[in-house]
Amino acid sequence: MPNTKSRNVSRVIESDRVMEGAGVAIRRSFPSAGLEDIDPFLLLDHMGPIQFAPGQAVGFPDHPHRGFETVTYVLEGKMEHRDSRGNHGVLGPGDVQWMTAGSGVVHSEMPGEELRKNGGRLQGFQLWVNLPKVDKLTEPRYQEVAAARLPVVETKDVKVKVVAGESMGQHAAIETRTPMLYLHFTLQPGASVTQAVPAEFNAFAYAIDGAGFAGPGATPLAEGHLAVFGKNGDQVELSNPVDARAPLNVLLIAGAPIGEPVARYGPFVMNTKTEIYQAFADYRSGRMGVIEAR
Ligand code: MN
Repeated sequence: MPNTKSRNVSRVIESDRVMEGAGVAIRRSFPSAGLEDIDPFLLLDHMGPIQFAPGQAVGFPDHPHRGFETVTYVLEGKMEHRDSRGNHGVLGPGDVQWMTAGSGVVHSEMPGEELRKNGGRLQGFQLWVNLPKVDKLTEPRYQEVAAARLPVVETKDVKVKVVAGESMGQHAAIETRTPMLYLHFTLQPGASVTQAVPAEFNAFAYAIDGAGFAGPGATPLAEGHLAVFGKNGDQVELSNPVDARAPLNVLLIAGAPIGEPVARYGPFVMNTKTEIYQAFADYRSGRMGVIEAR
């Protein structure tokens, strides 16, 4: 008989409102003054929702990354990606891009052409996933999963999109370097879910919209807030109260901690300061490549 125990919520974090890239409004849960990372996760940014006027949409022009992975999940609008490895992708609602920067990639992440021209709404997430020392300089890899290929399980009052890992019997299409879960739950009013999370994983939940409860003590989880779970069990509980007026959309993200020193500066995340200096030198000398003329 497996010994199942529901994890407590150890803390709740309100995301910071910041501007990133060329001026994109972001809600950043971490890193922040009070929370450096949730090993192996380095950053969680909730872009928007932003309403752009025609000709006003801005994004993230050419910049490098090394030593980790960037995961983009679009909810509304389109993002156009180009990189120094020759990859080009337009991500629409529900699409996921998992970019292993590894040894180094220069990329641009911009609102789609129609959004730039005619304006419109943009909303999405970026998660940074650390790589273990052994993989920091691995060959870059680009995985893109269209919404239609993303495994989805739907019951009467619970829906889950499986971006990474496994939920309700469905396996993700994405391959990850280290074991992790990335799930998007939609809970109707009165619905609850209990998700298995390996005991060694660090885990958190982020409320995209709606408000609900996390953990066995029913800790309130407001929109834009992130609940960090304790490591006292092998499952987590999320629920939307029966008197809620709207569904609860929530991300549940968990992963095996890497447990190595983290040296981070801007777009580079390595193990030592010396490796950060090397990353800057390699970027400046063009060793991470350039994006071909478009
Ligand atoms: Mn980037």
